Amino acid sequence: NDVYGRIDAVEDKVKSYITITRDSAYEMAKDAEQSIIDNKTSLLTGIPVAVKDNMCTKGILTTCASKILYNFIPPYESTVTERLKEQGYILTGKTNLDEFAMGSSTENSGFHATRNPWDLDRVPGGSSGGSAAAVAADECIAALGSDTGGSIRQPAALCGVVGLKPTYGRVSRYGLVAFASSLDQIGPITKNITDAAIMLNAIAGHDPNDSTSAPIDVPDFVKVLGQEIKGLKIGIPKEYFIDGMDRDVEESVHSAIKKLESLGAIPVEVSMPHTSYAVAVYYILATSEASSNLARYDGVKYGFRADAKDLLEMYMNTRAHGFGSEVKRRIMLGTYALSAGYYDAYYKKGQQVRTLIKQDFDNAFKKVDALVTPTSPTPAFKIGEKATDPLQMYLSDIFTISVNLAGVPAISIPCGFTQDNLPIGLQIIGKYFDEGSILKIAYAYE
Ligand code: GLN
Repeated sequence: NDVYGRIDAVEDKVKSYITITRDSAYEMAKDAEQSIIDNKTSLLTGIPVAVKDNMCTKGILTTCASKILYNFIPPYESTVTERLKEQGYILTGKTNLDEFAMGSSTENSGFHATRNPWDLDRVPGGSSGGSAAAVAADECIAALGSDTGGSIRQPAALCGVVGLKPTYGRVSRYGLVAFASSLDQIGPITKNITDAAIMLNAIAGHDPNDSTSAPIDVPDFVKVLGQEIKGLKIGIPKEYFIDGMDRDVEESVHSAIKKLESLGAIPVEVSMPHTSYAVAVYYILATSEASSNLARYDGVKYGFRADAKDLLEMYMNTRAHGFGSEVKRRIMLGTYALSAGYYDAYYKKGQQVRTLIKQDFDNAFKKVDALVTPTSPTPAFKIGEKATDPLQMYLSDIFTISVNLAGVPAISIPCGFTQDNLPIGLQIIGKYFDEGSILKIAYAYE
């Protein structure tokens, strides 16, 4: 009730949600009450959680913020929301995003833009901007986001909340609408580290429905919180402190590193020489995968269908009207990179450089236990500021993208404010399947 009171009070300003599921939430609340009476509770029983609108929820509209899915009601439930259901959570609603998770500001939504609760003239980041804004504005207790190149961590940083991208394969992608399948990963956006650990406990683990989910044990992430970080080596990659980044961001991250040092961690300078290729490699590989994944929206099976006189025209009109301009731009880029004659020069070369980026992480992790960097080079920017310049927008993820290319886990946590009172995020990157260490460091810092 408090959450819906809050939604009533602020939602028309912030616009975090695409669909608010008030009626089914009251039903879920009744079930939660019953499990309390039956003494069958979990840490998530009755907790109001918002879910990014690119995760399938059975019987509940799932649009990916795209006109092409404006009427899509999935006949099945994603694994993550199924697991949250088993724990007795309450779904507050489906949150806004950049269409098909393509963007860094939530301005690319096919329906409406979301605003940053700290300053309504600014973006919340993206693509999970609706989830991050909903958590920051108290329109839910926790949320799920998805992260292909930074879409959990960057909006978490810009909204002053916690965002965790797990290791690729840690969380099932079954029921997550695919953008770039080799990079996509679902994770929690929360108000604090403990909640992130509780949410990760609930959603992590092998799933036979996702062949890329890892068949390995999941530790109890809440248990590691509070453990000492004395003696842990934290790498500071020098390539992550670049010209042109915001002064306040740089200063806050440096003082965060000092604070970790005072808690007993040992900072070590490391070099990750292929970092500067990450954005280029990402936009070859992610668009290639997207062009293939999005081929299914043809107006035949589900979603929007345009009027036409024959089949070809139906395909063409459906996709021309159903997709927004950023999505079309990426389908064209990806189709080009994969086409015969260009494949070796673009896609194959991209894969090779991806391996070099992964090796940068392997080498760094021979020397250190975790890496610490800024999450985003700037705080929240003004609505419209980068909307007409895709390259500027792409650079928002310069510090988050390599993590997805390598597949390692990373968390963004609040580490201060700019002089204009905008939140700043600190990114902590871990070894494969070592979410425990980054949560432990984040908890010690918090
Ligand atoms: N901003 C990046 C992009 O536009 C990352 C998006 C994401 O992580 N889903 O592709």
